[in-house]
Amino acid sequence: HRFSILRASLRPVILKFEDVAYGVQCRSAKGTCFGSNEPTPIRTVLNGVSGIVRPGELLAMLGPSGSGKTTLLTALAGRLPGKISGSITYNGQPFTSSMKRKTGLVTQDDVLYPHLTVLETLTYAALLRLPDKLTREEKVEQAELIIMELGLTRCRNSVVGGPLFRGISGGERKRVSIGQEMLVNPSLLLLDEPTSGLDSTTTQRIVATLRTLARGGRTVVTTIHQPSSRLYRMFDKVVVLSDGCPIYSGKAGRVMDYFGSVGYVPGFNFVN
Ligand code: ADP
Repeated sequence: HRFSILRASLRPVILKFEDVAYGVQCRSAKGTCFGSNEPTPIRTVLNGVSGIVRPGELLAMLGPSGSGKTTLLTALAGRLPGKISGSITYNGQPFTSSMKRKTGLVTQDDVLYPHLTVLETLTYAALLRLPDKLTREEKVEQAELIIMELGLTRCRNSVVGGPLFRGISGGERKRVSIGQEMLVNPSLLLLDEPTSGLDSTTTQRIVATLRTLARGGRTVVTTIHQPSSRLYRMFDKVVVLSDGCPIYSGKAGRVMDYFGSVGYVPGFNFVN
């Protein structure tokens, strides 16, 4: 039997964030506010955000552009510089280098070489990222398995392309980016807008893939920009941010009732 990364045993991770707040200092050349002698103001980017995500669960972070989703995701990935107040724990512990090895972060900017094929891209990532104890053949085999399990078989020999020339579709590119992170078999998978720029069918398929990855025992958190009530049903929980503040945190199925009860929410366009 071939060993499958996506079914390999995982160390379960309970991600808990409580009262997370973060401010950035508005910069000027002199370290003061726009040349005056006033101290530089702090801009609050996150303000008291809390949540808990257990293995097998899929959490969506929603909110208009600029509401703090990426900042919170970066904090959860242990990569936010500067001081964060509140607490973020992984099985009750702070972020450590061993947690880093268990964390996959899919950022908004695809770092893909446009002239490489899907297979070459994932093989390259496997050779770079998988531990030295695996042979070259085993690493290539893992790349092949990721291709199969993320539904990329059809386009495995197509170039990934990019802004300058045509390659695979936007949804397939996203799957390649997710595949690069899945190679290391993360217990915690974090994704920043994996569905941006994708049509609703492709969006649903990407979220369905995230559901499958979570079901395997992973803890999965994703930001999502184009919310629809149909999409919500695919998540276990959602956190909604507005100007860095949590305006809803809880079961995904209840979020529409919540919005119904508070009326119009700025920055959102709901599609059913
Ligand atoms: P979203 O992902 O919801 O679009 P972000 O987390 O990217 O929101 O940003 C939230 C707000 O914080 C934005 O107004 C952004 O300009 C600001 N911000 C984030 N990081 C910094 C930073 N390092 N310096 C200044 N402002 C920042």
